[in-house]
Amino acid sequence: MQTRATCPYCGVGCGVLIEHDGERITGVRGDPAHPANFGRLCTKGSTLHLTARPQTRLLYPELRRTRGEPRQRVGWDEAIATAANRFAEVINTHGPDAVAFYISGQLLTEDYYVFNKAMKGLIGSNNVDTNSRLCMSSAVAAYKQTLGADAPPCAYEDFDHADCILIAGANPAYAHPVAFRRIEDARKARPHMKLIVVDPRRTDTAASADLHLAILPGTDIWLYNAMLHVLLREGLVDAAFIAAHTEGFDALRTHVDTITPAVAAGACGVAEADIVTAARWWGQSPAALSLWCQGLNQSTHGTHNGAALIALSLATGKIGKPGCGPFSLTGQPNAMGGREVGGLANLLSAHRDLANPAHREEVARLWGVDSVPATPGLTAVELFQAVREGRIKALWIACTNPAQSMPELERVREALQCCDFVVLQEAFRSTETAAFADLMLPAATWGEKEGTVTNSERRVSHVRRALPPPAEARPDWRIVCDFARALGPLIGKPHAAHMFAYDGVEAIFAEHVASTAGRDLDITGLDYALLDSAGPQQWPLTAAMRAAGEVGRGRLYADGHFPTASGRARFVVPVQASTAEQVDARYPLHLTTGRLRDQWHGMSRTGKVARLYSHVDEARIDLNPADLQAYGVHSGELLRVSSRRGELVLRAHASEEVGRGQAFVAMHWGRNVLDSGGINVLVGGDVDPFSRQPELKHSAIAIERA
Ligand code: SF4
Repeated sequence: MQTRATCPYCGVGCGVLIEHDGERITGVRGDPAHPANFGRLCTKGSTLHLTARPQTRLLYPELRRTRGEPRQRVGWDEAIATAANRFAEVINTHGPDAVAFYISGQLLTEDYYVFNKAMKGLIGSNNVDTNSRLCMSSAVAAYKQTLGADAPPCAYEDFDHADCILIAGANPAYAHPVAFRRIEDARKARPHMKLIVVDPRRTDTAASADLHLAILPGTDIWLYNAMLHVLLREGLVDAAFIAAHTEGFDALRTHVDTITPAVAAGACGVAEADIVTAARWWGQSPAALSLWCQGLNQSTHGTHNGAALIALSLATGKIGKPGCGPFSLTGQPNAMGGREVGGLANLLSAHRDLANPAHREEVARLWGVDSVPATPGLTAVELFQAVREGRIKALWIACTNPAQSMPELERVREALQCCDFVVLQEAFRSTETAAFADLMLPAATWGEKEGTVTNSERRVSHVRRALPPPAEARPDWRIVCDFARALGPLIGKPHAAHMFAYDGVEAIFAEHVASTAGRDLDITGLDYALLDSAGPQQWPLTAAMRAAGEVGRGRLYADGHFPTASGRARFVVPVQASTAEQVDARYPLHLTTGRLRDQWHGMSRTGKVARLYSHVDEARIDLNPADLQAYGVHSGELLRVSSRRGELVLRAHASEEVGRGQAFVAMHWGRNVLDSGGINVLVGGDVDPFSRQPELKHSAIAIERA
């Protein structure tokens, strides 16, 4: 038997066919009918069936009645009643802002929707944030500052029309492999296409480029501003587009006037001529597309990194046309869907803003509650700081592993240790965070749950269930609804029974769809039946479009109108910043982090598959051979790696991919592999002022022989 679903890893959003015999998942194949991948899968997707092993799963609710005692198996009724009572106790004593949800870009849209509604509509706090804060929040802020809405304007088919592709702070050959294969195909079909890659490391993506700009970490804005300087100097901007469809260009033009290629070359550590070449290729190409990911986002100026890159598209009028535009590659499978339902501490349903009183009223009306609180919730880094300081006393974590993935890891672990009550809703029983959970609730996972996801190109797919969850595991949305109905009467909100009376997951999707009417992501023309009959669809797809027989819109802004107050896109004058942490005599090396080809996030799933270790089989630190020689260290020796926050022991690995004075460690390795802690014990929690996204990409480190 075969069941259609999507891959639960990256934001490419590949369609998969789950092969099963009704009791076990036996295989997985790429779905040839899915427009994100047309049947292709990467190593991670093609081994998904090997991760469906009951021995790694959390199968029953477990409760720890006293700290220090092991958790004991309990029934679902007791688990839900305990969670509701403990949360109610905190809310009634300390107020609604003393509790929080920390959820995940790997949840389905319907799961996200009910988590958001439970915190903002029922409990009365905006303390719901997600690991998407660590992933795409800078891209969200950049889109909103420049284009007016969190709407990536492109589609994968734009790869096929581009004459120049600029990939910045991303290694899609590893992190988004199926999308990268499509770029490779497009290059074969269009041999004149230029590929520019901006990355401090010579990754596989960079090695395949026509031009690799190996900038120093944190210097992106200098580069994009200098490229704009060249575009202006050489008459390669689109003055008519700027005049008709944008605002704020004069201020940016003045700003970049002094940022010559020579100035930027000094800041970025690349050749002046290469900056000029990149600008010319971009400006002279009829169609140019930029792609970016965490190298730009995970920065203390991640929003302005994105805005400076988007400015290249706007200044040259290369947006809203085939092969053109700025295109963020979403890190997680459903970070987009989470944003669509407002699943971040500063957002509301259907891309509404918490800061907008009219938007709060609309959402309160939709949910049938008196009001939605105006105070912004705590974002990821702030949230764990509040837990550590005792301001958050009950924390519910779902489908994510903050004890490995957050920056300032030791502080996060201290926070979890001192929190009065920690609930972990999780499919796998042995993540790093599980050690801190007072109550563990077994969740269904890939192949066992139904709902929708939205990928990087705004395409909504229907994810179907192949098998029932094992033992007592339940779908995430159902756990949340059971909790909300139990909590409501305990906090004086008996209407919770009505608010969360869904008869199935499709009813949640229908409520989400209704909430999008008139919004930029209007999907009032979408339902499960259409997704089943016509396949995955891009938004917007309004009821009127469906009635007219149209499909979702693949490319946005073709009419030059942007969803800002003036209808014009905005140029942003960026801060001219560097990394939050500077190298110095004690910490002389730049550490950057990133993904391996065959692992995913904290390895709770991919780490269970032996063959996925064949590419890289242990945690290691990559260093330039010349630096190893200068330190008198050989490849393979153990090194003590320290930052201003912590230290690790890692095996040295000589790599020409890494520049002099730099180092690279893959983000995946956690306490399960490294006795001394996960990689993020080295990484600080400085955040971007707009997106509140932490600078996970960079730390200053020192090394010595262990
Ligand atoms: Fe899954 Fe991404 Fe690989 Fe596609 S490219 S199979 S979505 S990990």
